[in-house]
Amino acid sequence: MLLHSTQDITQTSSFSNALLNPSAPNNALYAPLNLPRLNPENLKNLNYKELALKIIGAFDFDINLQIFQKALEVYDNFDDKNCPINITKINENLYINELYHGPTRAFKDMALQPFGVLLEYLKKDDFYLIMCATSGDTGPATLKSFENKKNIKVVCIYPNDGTSKTQALQMIHSKACNLKSIAIKGNFDDAQNALKTLLNDEEFKAVLKKENIHLSAANSVNFGRILFQIIYHYYASLKLDKNLDIIIPSGNFGDALGAYYAKKMGAKISKIKIASNSNNILSEFFNSGRYDLRTKTLQKTISPAMDILISSNIERLLFDKFKDQRTKELMLNLKNEKFYELNFEELKLLQEDFEADFCTDEECMHYIKQYQDYLLDPHTCTCFKMLDSNTPTLITSTAQWSKFTPSMYKALFNKECLDEKKAMQEIANQFNQNIHPNIACLFEQEDIKVKTYKIDDLKQTIIDWIKQ
Ligand SMILES: *Cc1c(COP(=O)(O)O)cnc(C)c1O
Repeated sequence: MLLHSTQDITQTSSFSNALLNPSAPNNALYAPLNLPRLNPENLKNLNYKELALKIIGAFDFDINLQIFQKALEVYDNFDDKNCPINITKINENLYINELYHGPTRAFKDMALQPFGVLLEYLKKDDFYLIMCATSGDTGPATLKSFENKKNIKVVCIYPNDGTSKTQALQMIHSKACNLKSIAIKGNFDDAQNALKTLLNDEEFKAVLKKENIHLSAANSVNFGRILFQIIYHYYASLKLDKNLDIIIPSGNFGDALGAYYAKKMGAKISKIKIASNSNNILSEFFNSGRYDLRTKTLQKTISPAMDILISSNIERLLFDKFKDQRTKELMLNLKNEKFYELNFEELKLLQEDFEADFCTDEECMHYIKQYQDYLLDPHTCTCFKMLDSNTPTLITSTAQWSKFTPSMYKALFNKECLDEKKAMQEIANQFNQNIHPNIACLFEQEDIKVKTYKIDDLKQTIIDWIKQ
């Protein structure tokens, strides 16, 4: 199967090309024209990796399944070597799909871990620079995935005050010499824009070319990541074996897109409910059909990985629902007027699959306290407002609480956390939790003073580092 540009279906790409060169011409994305359908009845007895291979195999991409099998072996290093996710039952109608059992304790590992292996294989002997912009979890997961990989360098750009301290430490303490993280003055949308600008900067590309380095991006527009985000939703729906609503804390809409693709591939999913924080552009979109940047400025919340206004993967949903020409029209409108609006029929069509709502920080703190015996992280708790206790529901948990200690501490004890290391230990003791060694060790190391870069200096900083 080939992938198609979301804005012109005559532009196609193989899967392997899309993984190495994630943007389609004119900054469109690559996406499948049709999703292959599987019969869930035939898949019930498969383990996670077997199911993954069935799902990936159904796409019939240009890479041998043995390579994918190799990539999936990274899941052996997750908490349970037989299954990278854990489904916890809260009550008869409520389950939590924990996707944070990998090395960086956020769901980004689910895709970025196998993605790293695939990319290393596909690039052959070429040299690569992989760039990513992160609001907190993509950065650590990307750095971890490419740690010490031969002929690959990674640069992560993150907003200086936009991540939790733990997330920043995860990046700062990534010591392998092929990795670099850069803090910029600005927010996540600024970081994402800076990345897009660099990926299209002729001077930057010329310098890399001279050094014989190819350029790619590991952000969530890369279809190679989306592929792995279909599997866990499908797997959970098979294990629970009933029609489910799935609620997903969303930002760039990669996780939720995976659920939508899983549904189209036959998984028994009823509604996909999109949870946002007070950056509620997605809930506004699914409720009104308006995607309106004009009225919004990015707010900092206690769920930094969802502090996003430009939600890239919505473009793939538009493409699937309304085809390429309409997607092009809408995306052009967004670019030129910072705004677009679906018509009534289009909105109804979206609402067949989706619902959406958002939580303020105050509401989030309330849910963390209410469910303290489980310990929800500040992203996962945004799901609880949409919980309908009469419908079997799977809540997608995207990170472990320990990445966000100060907010957790405030919610649980109604006190400011003065010492993050002590506070984390206090929470762990009180609620019988273990702190993963990868998180605990971050606070054992010496403080490093982080330099913050102006966006204008980014290009030269990266060039200097590459030439070292
Ligand atoms: C990335 C992230 C999200 C948002 O996921 P998207 O795929 O960007 O919608 C939510 N929660 C956490 C903890 C994340 O790291």
